[in-house]
Amino acid sequence: MSFKSDIEIAQEATPKDIREIAAKLGLTEDDLDLYGKYKAKVDINLLQKPSGKKAKLILTTAINPTPAGEGKTTTTIGAADSLAALGKNCLVALREPSLGPVFGVKGGAAGGGYAQVIPMEDINLHFTGDFHAIGAANNLLAAMVDNHIFQGNVLDIDVRRVVWRRAVDMNDRQLRNIVNGLGGKAQGMPREDGFDITVASEVMAIFCLSNDIIDLKNRCAKIIVAYNRKGEPVTAGDLKAQGAMAALLKDALKPNLVQTLEGTPAFIHGGPFANIAHGCNSVLATKFAMNYADYVVTEGGFGADLGAEKFIDIKCRMADLKPDAVIIVATVKALKYNGGVGKNDLGPENLVALEAGLPNLLKHVENITQVFKLPAVVAINRFPTDTEAELKLVEDRCKELGVNVALSEVWGKGSKGGEVLAKELIRLTDTENNMEFAYDLEDPIKEKIRKIAQKIYGADDVAFTAKAEKEIANFDKLGFSNLPVCMAKTQYSLTDDQTKLGRPTGFTVTIRDLTVSAGAGFIVVLTGDVMKMPGLPKVPSAEKIDVDEKGVIAGLF
Ligand code: ADP
Ligand code: MG
Repeated sequence: MSFKSDIEIAQEATPKDIREIAAKLGLTEDDLDLYGKYKAKVDINLLQKPSGKKAKLILTTAINPTPAGEGKTTTTIGAADSLAALGKNCLVALREPSLGPVFGVKGGAAGGGYAQVIPMEDINLHFTGDFHAIGAANNLLAAMVDNHIFQGNVLDIDVRRVVWRRAVDMNDRQLRNIVNGLGGKAQGMPREDGFDITVASEVMAIFCLSNDIIDLKNRCAKIIVAYNRKGEPVTAGDLKAQGAMAALLKDALKPNLVQTLEGTPAFIHGGPFANIAHGCNSVLATKFAMNYADYVVTEGGFGADLGAEKFIDIKCRMADLKPDAVIIVATVKALKYNGGVGKNDLGPENLVALEAGLPNLLKHVENITQVFKLPAVVAINRFPTDTEAELKLVEDRCKELGVNVALSEVWGKGSKGGEVLAKELIRLTDTENNMEFAYDLEDPIKEKIRKIAQKIYGADDVAFTAKAEKEIANFDKLGFSNLPVCMAKTQYSLTDDQTKLGRPTGFTVTIRDLTVSAGAGFIVVLTGDVMKMPGLPKVPSAEKIDVDEKGVIAGLF
C-alpha cells in the first residue's frame, strides 16, 4: 500500500480566502489582522463583547503514547470537520507546532491524511511568529536579570541561584548548559546558564493561561527569576520587566485563524510543553472559539493521565471551562504495543497482544468517566494496517463494558470517515455533566500529588525524596500551597517508569523534586529528569525538508 504524504495532500487542497472562513463565524475583515490570504489574527477585544454563544467543548485525549503514533491532532481536526459536515457551526482549537520537533523526529503537527489544517507549511514553520515573540520576551527578561547584576545588583541576586534561563525555538543540545559573561570585567558576570526550547519557557505557559493582556502582565511580574543571598525569591516584577514583556507579546496574544482541508475554521495558538507545563492551546483561543461556534474540539498533549488531567485540573479550573465530552483516541497498533509487542512488529494481526493492551485504554476511560465524571467516547483511529478482526475486537470489548466507541476513519476519508464519531459527540454533549477535579486547591501539596497518583495513575502511594520534602516546606512558607500541581512524568506509562506499559498496579511514584512557575500559577512536580532542551536525532527530519525555486516546500511529512 502506498499513500500520499500529509504535505502532498495539503498541497492539493485549494484553500479558501481566510475572510470567507472568518465569515462562517460572523467575523468581518474589521475583526481580523490579515497575515496574507490564508492566515489571520483575531481582535481579542471582541471577547469583551460576548456573542451570546456558548459552544459545547470537546476535549481530545488518548491512551499512553507509543512510537506507533496515536493521531490525537488528526482525530481532533477530523471530528470538527465531521461535525461541520453534519451542519454544525464548529471550530477546532489546537497548539502551534514548535520548530524543534518539526526538524527533529516528530515532523509536522498539523494533523494528517485528510484531516489537516492548512497552510500546513506555514503552520509548521514560524507561522505568525508567536513563538519568536515568546522567545524574545523570555530573553528580554534574561538580559534584564544579567544587566541588573552587572549594574550593581541592588536586589542582591545570588549569581549562583539565577533560575531564569534563555530560550530558542530549536532542538539544540549544545545550548543546554553554557557559561556566559566571559571576557573580563566589562563583559558581564561569568556564570553557568543554559537555554530551554521556547515551548518549555514559563512565558509560554503564561501566554497560554492568560485571559487578557493585563492578566498576562500580572503573571509575568510574578515569575521568579532568581533568589537573593537571603534565599528569598526575586521576581520579574522586581526588575520591572513585565510591561516590556507584555508589549512584545501583544500581537502574539491574538489567536491565529486558519482552516482545515474542508474549510472548517481553526484556531492555532500557543503550545506549551505537556510535562513541565500544561500542554494545550491558549485559553484565549479556546474562549474565543467558544464565543463564536456551537462546537469546539480541542486537544491535550500526551495521554489522558497527563494531558487531560492538566487540561481539567489546571486550564479548566483557571479559565472556568468545562468539557462537555471527551474523545479518547486509541489505535490498534498502540494497544498492541501496550500489550507487549515491539515497535517493529506492530503490523501483523495479533489479537492476543491487542487484548493484553486493552486495560491501558480502559484505565484512561475510567479516569475520564469516573474520576472527572465526564462523558467519553473511544475513537479507534483506523490505520491502513489494521485488520477487521482487530478493529472488531476493540469495538466489541468496549461495548461489552458499556464504553461508548466509534471507529474513526478521518485520516483516510476526512469528514466522511467521522460521521459516527460526530453523531456520538452530539449525543454526549447534549446532557449536562457534573465534572469533578482530581484534587482541591486547598489540599496540601503532598495530598494533591497523592490524589493524582492514586486516582489517575493507579499507584499505591507516592514517595518523596529529601529534596522534594524540602521544596514542599519551602513552597508552603512562600505561600504557594494553594497552587495546582503540574505533573512532569514520562508520557509512555501510567507509572513513573517508561518501560511499564499496559495498566500497572502495585507501584509507588517517586517525587524527586519540585519547582514553582509562580507566573503560570502552578507547582511543577518532577518524577524524573525532564528534558527542557531536546537534541536532534542522528538523522533529523531537517535533512528531508526542502524548498524549490517557486517557494514550494517539500518533505514536511
Ligand atoms: P498526535 O496528535 O497524537 O501526536 P497526530 O495526529 O499528529 O498525532 O499524528 C501523527 C502522525 O500519524 C501524522 O503524521 C499522521 O499523518 C499519522 N496518522 C495519524 N492517524 C493516522 C492513521 N489513521 N493512519 C495513518 N497515519 C496516521
Ligand atoms: Mg498532537
